[in-house]
Amino acid sequence: KTGSTQNMSANIKVVVRVRPLNMKEIQSNNRVVVDVVDDKMLVFDPKQETRPFFYQGVQQPNKNFLKRANKELKFVFDDVCGQEASNQDVFETTTKEIIASLMEGYNCSVFAYGATGAGKTFTMIGTLENPGITYLTMEHLFYTIDSFEKDREFDIGVSYIEVYNENVYDLLKPSSTPLQLREDSKYGVMVAGLSLHSIRTARELLNMLEDGNKNRTQHPTDANAESSRSHAVFQVYVKMRYKISSQLRMVKLSMIDLAGSERASATGCKGDRFKEGANINKSLLSLGNCINKLADGSNYIPYRDSKLTRLLKDSLGGNCKTVMIANVSPSSITYEDTYNTLKYAARANKI
Ligand code: ADP
Ligand code: MG
Repeated sequence: KTGSTQNMSANIKVVVRVRPLNMKEIQSNNRVVVDVVDDKMLVFDPKQETRPFFYQGVQQPNKNFLKRANKELKFVFDDVCGQEASNQDVFETTTKEIIASLMEGYNCSVFAYGATGAGKTFTMIGTLENPGITYLTMEHLFYTIDSFEKDREFDIGVSYIEVYNENVYDLLKPSSTPLQLREDSKYGVMVAGLSLHSIRTARELLNMLEDGNKNRTQHPTDANAESSRSHAVFQVYVKMRYKISSQLRMVKLSMIDLAGSERASATGCKGDRFKEGANINKSLLSLGNCINKLADGSNYIPYRDSKLTRLLKDSLGGNCKTVMIANVSPSSITYEDTYNTLKYAARANKI
């Protein structure tokens, strides 16, 4: 492997989070198809015999002669968070360490990937009782900044945008007119007219994120009433001025709640909905392509193929740290989605 590939491997961390079964999954008495072995390994579609007779209190069907053979696929990741993991636990294994990288001058990006209903928004935003990793990461950022304040001055600004149907919208200053991306020689990628919000504590963020999230474009579909077809991109701009040299430095942290990775065809969508699906796949596909090219040490990275990758051009690869959190449900109801998500994550993990 080339030197650049080795660099990338330190720069991308892939974590899989398996959420608990929900009521519907428990009541439907379907199989559990993700077996978390330890904090690095899981088995997808394990053999019947290896599963406990009861799982989360649900009796597992033990004979099914008509079924195809189990795949029994072992996957190893940088970390695997099982259904008992809290958002705090996920934060500890994913984004806590990237704040140190941010202070060293790296742009960082965090992605929540997975099918609709797999737990992306729960992971990123969470609830008031169980705040997501965006809040926890910001809390840690402010805590970290405190210890640097004797020799640096900080200015923190945040923005929250949505990429929907290959258009960019401001979630904190809603408008039906999409915003344009511009390339600035000094600051990199800019969103023209985007509202920037100055904050000094993580608390100030809670309502902001919740309100912003309510502004996300949502369309109920046949497959899932909570379906989300937009990518939500939360960005933190950290401006630091070194007191002695007066040198100014800007770093950026991007936290992205990606649109559902399920195929448009699986949701029974037609017309406009289908077009949305095609565009989502385009951005997700571009993201995957860019990550793969970076891994191969390619000179040409196709950032320009989608809005999402253009937007994140200065936060992916090169001098950047990336965390990919792949969210899955353990139930066989979402067998194909889970399998696809694990394969996507495994590809990123090879990097
Ligand atoms: P997504 O954003 O991927 O579509 P959500 O985050 O909205 O999925 O999760 C779907 C449902 O499952 C929500 O009701 C959410 O509260 C619940 N959920 C997801 N992950 C967890 C978890 N780790 N623990 C408890 N509930 C969860
Ligand atoms: Mg969501």
